Amino acid sequence: MLDSDERAILFLCCGNHVAFCDVCERERPILTLRRRPSDPDRWLCPRCRHDVTESVLQHTRACRYFAERKPLGKVMRPEPPAAASA
Ligand SMILES: [Zn+2]
Ligand SMILES: [Zn+2]
Repeated sequence: MLDSDERAILFLCCGNHVAFCDVCERERPILTLRRRPSDPDRWLCPRCRHDVTESVLQHTRACRYFAERKPLGKVMRPEPPAAASA
């Protein structure tokens, strides 16, 4: 789940970054993604309406805008010991 800061980063910084749609096998710019009014945390491919939320979440873990962000709630938490990177 994204918090409001993370959504703001996606809108303000990541509009031209992309999520990947498995069905279209194409990258879709985050700005073009649709969202369900009933469930704004789900992100849908603008073309086929496939749910690309997982790709968006992967982006938030890879994007430097998120890496550079220092959320108060998270800096207090100790780093896990050198986890194997995926
Ligand atoms: Zn980004
Ligand atoms: Zn698609």
